[in-house]
Amino acid sequence: MATQQPVGGSMTGPPAPAQATSANNENPSLAKESKENADSTSKLWDSERQIVSSLWKLQELEAKIHQLRTLLPDRLLAPLVPIVNPQKAGPGRPVPKTPEILCEQLSQAVRDGVAEVEEFKSMWQSPEMKVIWDRLDEKMKECDGDYPQPDGVWEQDYDVLLEELDKEERIKEERRQKDEEEQERLRARSVEGGWKGIVESFRQKGLPGVRILLNKNETVITVVLLKAGMAFDIQEVDGQENKGYSEWRVSNKQYPGKPKTKLETGILICLNSRPRKWDLAYLLDMICSYSEVKQTQCAKCNKMTDNAAQLPTIRRPKQVESPDGKKIVSWEAYHQDCA
Ligand SMILES: [Zn+2]
Repeated sequence: MATQQPVGGSMTGPPAPAQATSANNENPSLAKESKENADSTSKLWDSERQIVSSLWKLQELEAKIHQLRTLLPDRLLAPLVPIVNPQKAGPGRPVPKTPEILCEQLSQAVRDGVAEVEEFKSMWQSPEMKVIWDRLDEKMKECDGDYPQPDGVWEQDYDVLLEELDKEERIKEERRQKDEEEQERLRARSVEGGWKGIVESFRQKGLPGVRILLNKNETVITVVLLKAGMAFDIQEVDGQENKGYSEWRVSNKQYPGKPKTKLETGILICLNSRPRKWDLAYLLDMICSYSEVKQTQCAKCNKMTDNAAQLPTIRRPKQVESPDGKKIVSWEAYHQDCA
């Protein structure tokens, strides 16, 4: 645990507030810009995360300072120890056999030490630290040097606090996504013509090599992928876990005398383990992503077949922008082991 409070940003040099103010007075647009900057800066410091992560960075820097204190004389002169004090020599710290070896060891210790100091300097002068130093300078000016005196002890481990904040944010984000999906589900349900409307608008896209058929009593949607030589049946079923809405389940179209291939089985597993099981448009889109399955490489290893001679059967949606600026989903193919 750290024991001392770090001190302000003297290494970055003091800011020049007086000049900035006079320049602003002469140039209204500069003044406006500076006010906007100040607004966005003060907004930045409204967030708890910014404060916690800044304190964490200061804590890290302080720990580095303590570590640097052991550099001179201890670590820089370490190669001399077994010579000066033979009792401390041992297998992990042998007496250097020749002056050349000693010289090389000392040089190495200095090179390592200088690298450590340089690393510390670049941490101190990094852009993210500059934001923090500026804030400290500003605060100290505001209270005219009358800031709380450190008692030399950090009361919190800010990396732990930061982790907790991140976790909270993740949970919030998951909840937000769930809500968004719920909204989308409600919108999809109110599409004109219901699920048949979704099928119809998909048909109208006129994807080459794709046929969509309905059986006589309109309980099964069949998607035929001509190029892949496959067909899938889609049926509406009651959703699991009593969610109060139905889901779409896929099965291989059964042709008498034609056994299912390993490829078809693999695709079916992936189709039925998809998210958004309520989303028929998503499912139709996903099935069609297999249209070129026999010509599609794995997005990770860039190969057609894996070690087990299998094609990439996994599909993952990826948001991309279409040429006319709309957000569309493109599907990336992966092998089982590459996913
Ligand atoms: Zn692969």
